[in-house]
Amino acid sequence: MGIFDRFLPKKKQPEVKNTIPQEKANIKKTFGVYCNKHHSTKGEKLCPKCTALLATVMTKINRCPYGITKPICDRCERQCFGKAQNTEFMKIMTSSSKGMFLKHPMMTMKHKMASLSVDYAKREQEKRQAEKAAAKKKNAEAKAKAKEEGKKEK
Ligand SMILES: [Zn+2]
Repeated sequence: MGIFDRFLPKKKQPEVKNTIPQEKANIKKTFGVYCNKHHSTKGEKLCPKCTALLATVMTKINRCPYGITKPICDRCERQCFGKAQNTEFMKIMTSSSKGMFLKHPMMTMKHKMASLSVDYAKREQEKRQAEKAAAKKKNAEAKAKAKEEGKKEK
């Protein structure tokens, strides 16, 4: 605390929802369901392969460049687990979504809603970019036309 701190306006922190603990819990549960079903393991004890992949995923989430505003992993375009592990991760996340729904319906719903909102935000962003590009093109065309007409008048 500096001596001048009280003279400075208080900075208002933008509210960013930290969804990481939720997402980690979600991924862990999904792995559990998948491994129990496909690798005949029981409860939270996963097979070595799934344990290793889960550990990698958790480490990568901690190091995610998006920080706490990150999009959820199975929607993220950065394949930060590496190609092979990412494919495996996606396989687990998608193939057990039915089992997930039966065991944790609320969580699956929430996850689905989050996925949808990420998709929506992405679409909106693409739309805005397309509009911007179109406006820019129109502008350039108008300018070219004006130039053309200016030439005619001379
Ligand atoms: Zn397994």
